[in-house]
Amino acid sequence: MTAKRNTWQKDAVRHALSEATGFVSAQDLHLVLRNHGSTIGLATVYRALTDLATQGEADSLQSKDGELLYRACGTSHHHHLICRQCGKTVEIEAEKVEAWADDVAKAHGFVSPSHTIDIFGDCAACK
Ligand SMILES: [Zn+2]
Ligand SMILES: [Zn+2]
Ligand SMILES: [Zn+2]
Repeated sequence: MTAKRNTWQKDAVRHALSEATGFVSAQDLHLVLRNHGSTIGLATVYRALTDLATQGEADSLQSKDGELLYRACGTSHHHHLICRQCGKTVEIEAEKVEAWADDVAKAHGFVSPSHTIDIFGDCAACK
């Protein structure tokens, strides 16, 4: 059954993503899966990652090269500290940012504000 096979492939992508230490591209993940003997296609990996991000099981962001990167993340709201050399990612809370974002939105008459903030730098091992 097509639906069943898709579910299996998505599980494989979800698992590979959970083992990555930072944000990875669909191509990175595709390579990992192939190296583990999977016959999964790149297009399927792209689709599974898009699904996971839509369903809130993964975070996505754009790399400085414009490539979409993904990571299995906690479901509660958080921000990322990302090493631009090795891709190591730390999930961070940013209470001041939350208050500031709400205040700025309110000051302009906006309701239900949301935001995405990721901080890039060089980690201790890479600096
Ligand atoms: Zn995250
Ligand atoms: Zn690093
Ligand atoms: Zn926030």
